[in-house]
Amino acid sequence: MSSTKLKVAIVGGGAAGIGAAHKLSQLGHDVTILESRNRLGGHANPVIIENNGEPTPLDTGFLIFNDSTYPNFCQFLKELEVIGDAHNLEMSSCFRNTDDKIEYSMGQKSRLVRFGLKEALNPRFWSIFKEMYRFRKKAHSDIVNKVDLSSISIEEYLQDFSRSFSDNFVYPLTSAIWSLPPSQIGLYPAQSILNYFYNHQLLAGKSDKRWLSFKGSSAVYLNAFCSKFPGKIVLNSLVRCIERGSKEISIFLDKEESPLQFDKVILATPADISLKLLNDPSPLERDLLARWRYNSSTATLHTDTSVLHKNKKLWSSWNMNKSGNRYFISYYLNRVHDIKSKSDYVLSLGTPGIRDEKIIQEFQYRHPIFDQNSVSSQDQLHDLNRGQTAFCGSYFGFGFHEDAFASGLKAAQSIL
Ligand SMILES: Cc1cc2nc3c(=O)[nH]c(=O)nc-3n(C[C@H](O)[C@H](O)[C@H](O)COP(=O)(O)OP(=O)(O)OC[C@H]3O[C@@H](n4cnc5c(N)ncnc54)[C@H](O)[C@@H]3O)c2cc1C
Repeated sequence: MSSTKLKVAIVGGGAAGIGAAHKLSQLGHDVTILESRNRLGGHANPVIIENNGEPTPLDTGFLIFNDSTYPNFCQFLKELEVIGDAHNLEMSSCFRNTDDKIEYSMGQKSRLVRFGLKEALNPRFWSIFKEMYRFRKKAHSDIVNKVDLSSISIEEYLQDFSRSFSDNFVYPLTSAIWSLPPSQIGLYPAQSILNYFYNHQLLAGKSDKRWLSFKGSSAVYLNAFCSKFPGKIVLNSLVRCIERGSKEISIFLDKEESPLQFDKVILATPADISLKLLNDPSPLERDLLARWRYNSSTATLHTDTSVLHKNKKLWSSWNMNKSGNRYFISYYLNRVHDIKSKSDYVLSLGTPGIRDEKIIQEFQYRHPIFDQNSVSSQDQLHDLNRGQTAFCGSYFGFGFHEDAFASGLKAAQSIL
């Protein structure tokens, strides 16, 4: 317990807000989470469906993590005593390009590529295959030798490779990992992509990472957090505006006339929203937060398996499709959540053609866009967290749950 008990508001109840709230409440501060929706979790958004009469939880946003590049999130799960509820997952992926008639899959334990007779007879596939190995070697060596790639995009990095290789390997993976629309993939910073590929062993011949997900969905950790958190969680509280006085901070909610008063505030909302909420942003806050733009995407929970590989044996945790100039990703949830069921459950992002009668529910999400302009703000973002106000969110890192959660812990530390 620190000497002065602070009254802290956390705006936004996603992984970043939960991280900040967890840290501050552990230190004995009086914490209130203000969340605009009727649920906590943000992108961690589990739903319960009826599967042959059995209530079955499924994730429709955040799904998977691992025990090596999610150290803060895993520590949190240990503190909540739910880490044991996460199960090992084979992080396989498969890719299908309907125009070029190329389909292949890759396992995690061995990154060997599996493909069919069609591909074996297709010279274009063999040239992609050869470039895949050249790319892995080059990217691995550039990262290990710390080659400065900070000012080049992935499109520039791939100049020595064929367009067909980019379209059938690097772009679908990048699109799947960051939920990027095709027009933005080429602009994505090469350094961020290659660091991610390296850290997640996508450049190695095999991966020994333990990928995990909750059989009972992320509801497992959200429920555990809610039941142990000693502070207040105020749902359906859309924050409209934040006024920072010399001593106190006034937070105006959408439906309330009089403001709520706090000593400190942590904005765990997306960067563009955080900026809009401040009635007096400093020049540095304005400059850094305004560099972040967001994409919206629709995630569809459904049972239409026509979006998956034709060969059921190749259905993977991640299933990527290319059609025309666009990439689509579908997660096969039976595999992710280890559901033994006759029905197949799929979560597809921005995928057209899913039959209406197979759709269970649709969800809208916003993702930060990592381009040269936004990524250039990252070295300075922590400079914003020096006083009454602090910021956090997945935009502090690579855009993942660990990034969001860890940035929340740091934001909490910064206001003390
Ligand atoms: C479909 C999908 C799949 C993903 N899968 C994975 C995965 O498998 N593994 C992984 O690591 N990451 C994954 N991610 C990314 C990861 O989940 C996110 O990066 C992370 O959860 C974001 O957390 P956050 O707290 O920064 O933001 P958010 O989760 O967006 O939280 C922000 C919160 O602020 C609230 N809010 C906004 N405005 C206001 C306001 N004015 N007043 C009050 N509250 C407000 C929002 O309602 C929201 O709850 C996935 C993302 C998506 C969309």
